Amino acid sequence: MKERLSLRIHGIVQGVGFRPFVHKLVRNYGLHGYIRNCSSGVEMELEGEREKLEELLRALPEKAPSLALIQDMEHSFSRELQGFESFEIMRSSREELNNTLVSPDICICDDCLRELRDRSDRRYGYPFINCTNCGPRFTIIKDLPYDRAKTSMDVFPMCPDCEREYGDIENRRYHAQPDCCDKCGPRVFYLDGEGKELWGDGIQLARERLKKGGIVAVKGLGGIHLACRWDDERLVRELRRRKQRDEKPFALMCRDVECARKLCLVSPAEEKLLESCQRPIVLLRKKEPGLEYLSENGYLGLMLPYTPLHYLLMGEDIPMLVMTSANLSDTPIMYKNSEALRDLRGIADGFLLHDREIQTRCDDSLCWELEGKEYFARRSRGYVPYPLTMRRELKSILACGAEQKASFCLSRGNYIFQSQHIGDLKNMETLENYRQQTEHFKKLFDIEPEAAACDMHPDYLSTAFAESLGIPLIKVQHHHAHMCSCMADNSLEGEVIGLAWDGTGLGLDGTAWGGECLIGGYGGFERFGHILPLAMPGGDRAVKEIDRLAFSLLEASGLDGSQIAGAGIYRKMLETGLNCPLSSGMGRLFDGAAALLGIRSQCSYEGQGAVLLEAAAAQEEEGLYPYRLEGRPLVFDWREMIRAMVRELEEGQGAGLVAARFMNTLVDMAAETAEAARRETGLDRVCLSGGSFQNMYIMRRLPERLRARGFRVYRHRRVSCNDEGLALGQLMIADARLRS
Ligand code: ZN
Ligand code: ZN
Ligand code: FE
Repeated sequence: MKERLSLRIHGIVQGVGFRPFVHKLVRNYGLHGYIRNCSSGVEMELEGEREKLEELLRALPEKAPSLALIQDMEHSFSRELQGFESFEIMRSSREELNNTLVSPDICICDDCLRELRDRSDRRYGYPFINCTNCGPRFTIIKDLPYDRAKTSMDVFPMCPDCEREYGDIENRRYHAQPDCCDKCGPRVFYLDGEGKELWGDGIQLARERLKKGGIVAVKGLGGIHLACRWDDERLVRELRRRKQRDEKPFALMCRDVECARKLCLVSPAEEKLLESCQRPIVLLRKKEPGLEYLSENGYLGLMLPYTPLHYLLMGEDIPMLVMTSANLSDTPIMYKNSEALRDLRGIADGFLLHDREIQTRCDDSLCWELEGKEYFARRSRGYVPYPLTMRRELKSILACGAEQKASFCLSRGNYIFQSQHIGDLKNMETLENYRQQTEHFKKLFDIEPEAAACDMHPDYLSTAFAESLGIPLIKVQHHHAHMCSCMADNSLEGEVIGLAWDGTGLGLDGTAWGGECLIGGYGGFERFGHILPLAMPGGDRAVKEIDRLAFSLLEASGLDGSQIAGAGIYRKMLETGLNCPLSSGMGRLFDGAAALLGIRSQCSYEGQGAVLLEAAAAQEEEGLYPYRLEGRPLVFDWREMIRAMVRELEEGQGAGLVAARFMNTLVDMAAETAEAARRETGLDRVCLSGGSFQNMYIMRRLPERLRARGFRVYRHRRVSCNDEGLALGQLMIADARLRS
């Protein structure tokens, strides 16, 4: 008996080969009807045997093309037949197309990789091979609707062969906008260190230069990398010197997972993440200590090749390469040929460039694997601009984020579009890029925000930017935003217990906060608890010169800090309170502890002390230190802990053991704090947010501990826990305020 199926699919199903996929599937099941794009996805009407229609419903989500993202399917059956005699793809109107979501850039697919390596294929060895299932998207799109004329492929008219594939619904390249071949598409070329183009196969020339120990600039998807051999310490140190990047870890690109295993422990879940089509940099534990010249902590960031160009560059003879963003200390990643040739003079020994323009910068994403999924340190290429879908409609808001790990969010209906990683706004070029990207996103997603949200901090450049917009502005407390970011990340409503731990954020009382337990929701919050504020002799200088914090910890705990260089001056500052602000930042406590443990007395980047303390910690240690938790707000008094730490160090205990016990104490304190909050409020949902939760030692223990006590624990899943995720929380709070 024949029936009619009406089906609506919401999600990213346009411009990703979804309709041709449905066309094939429908034909296999012998069904008739039509499909067309609609504002939130696609809709179709199909007629055929009920059994076949149900099979199709099951097959759709399972077999959908890799770029498609099915968020929701609504369907209904009816006996009223229209009598369709064929299956048609109906044309959509312009207006419908304008609501299209944009796909992120996706790594080369298996089919294209096979063709790339197949001598008989017409695209053999062609570094820009792509199809509907793979290739560049976000980084080449200038405007919507998504078609070639509105991408940086507009200057490459298709040859007849490509045109034929593009128009053939049976072909994998049907309506693949960036489709091309070596007759009609972009080309690569190699220039020497002086910027002179060399004759010959660009990729081979680059390979030769790399093998001989050169530093080569390689243009990728969202920007330009600097690549060099990973196994030559002198060379890597030379790269650091030229790039003025003192100590931050470098990422490596590995030919395959087997190569990654030579340096790191790779679990099956991590392997899956490495091989996922988003191809993030995955932070993996080193197999054994060492390779400090690549990364000074216990992790190495590894990624697999993601463009055909990368696959051609690497090989048996080049199994791994250092791949670091080409930029000069804190400027945005370079993305233009002219810029690279001008600014990398003296840094790169050669340039492997191409003539397909990058429209939008997009850095590599960076994450750990946690419970089988990404846990982001940086959500960027491969993920942006996939929207976060909320369960309810939101006002249209531009949330401007923080300052150092800047990123913004724009909302429309149920969607929140979060920008790629933008960087530290204190840099002029970064600020300019940030401004341009807000315009780009507004245009791309057709959003004119009715209000803006920003941090309360008057000096953040994102705050100044928000103030300049001339629309209603809602200022949000930093840690309230962290907590709400985690809530929104997990689609929570109502009230929660929020642990917001980070380096610093401006508090309501004008001091720096960052070791907070808040209670509340999007509508407001109460400061339930915090860590005992620590004096920072010299203010911001103590963020880098962390032995100042060690001094402060010692003196506050009734111990003598005289052995620390500069003690006399610091003591004066403590006594007079002059240039000695208070901070309840968890990051500062970590930094001070790192200095106490002798791990480090100076930092070259924010959070370095905490990262190294984590790396030093003994893994199997269960012990912890005494501490006090009292008062209202509930204050974590760490002085007993500091005294115990110093005693153990004096008794000759290793820094690794003391570091582990220090973090175990914090885990215990967090659980006790949550317990106290539950007693008072009856709430049992705990949200973990803020940069300190990038500490994987804590992240592998605290959630478990809280769950064992009957809490429901929420941590970040879709956005970063650090300040990059701040805009999401700001947006939700602004939305709540606009409604009240
Ligand atoms: Zn492909
Ligand atoms: Zn062609
Ligand atoms: Fe923060």
